Amino acid sequence: MFLEPGQRGQRSGWIEVICGSMFSGKTEELIRRLKRARIAGQRVAVYKPFIDDRYATDEVVSHDANKLVSIAIDSSRALLNVPEDTQVIGIDEAQFFDPELPTIVQNLALRGMRIIIAGLDLDYRGEPFGPMPALLAVSEYITKVHAICPHCGNLATHSYRLSQESDQVLVGERDRYEPRCRVCYAMGNILALKPS
Ligand code: ZN
Repeated sequence: MFLEPGQRGQRSGWIEVICGSMFSGKTEELIRRLKRARIAGQRVAVYKPFIDDRYATDEVVSHDANKLVSIAIDSSRALLNVPEDTQVIGIDEAQFFDPELPTIVQNLALRGMRIIIAGLDLDYRGEPFGPMPALLAVSEYITKVHAICPHCGNLATHSYRLSQESDQVLVGERDRYEPRCRVCYAMGNILALKPS
């Protein structure tokens, strides 16, 4: 489990990334960290890309309905307008943001803020997703969480798309994706007709 680093010396910010496949508990972990900061009386702001409208547009909601109020923004530049006294910034679904996000969050960390980012590291094709590789490179702390492969029980690192659409961005639920380990992902639709 991730433990917050102690504050040493003068005030300085840092970047944390929580990554993994779909159904790996990324948003749960993001919410856990943000709620603990809020309970400690820290000023917290939560953002997500406007594209993710599968649930209420003003909330970060995990698959098991744990939730936090959030602000939907359509560009990472909007983060620069965060109130200056903000201490902790949460960002969910970071894979959908523009390539400027790593630069923006580094700017915010230099201003003393703690940035906690959750996102899919791989898209459904198994390719690094959007700004996530660069975010992983510039962050101080990385937590990779895993789902469990429903076919073999190993740790799942990939998000297998059950439907045929080829857009990289296809916001969906359990009927459109399933988490898979590397081997079961590579087996493709041979395994797609599992009994449910
Ligand atoms: Zn498997």
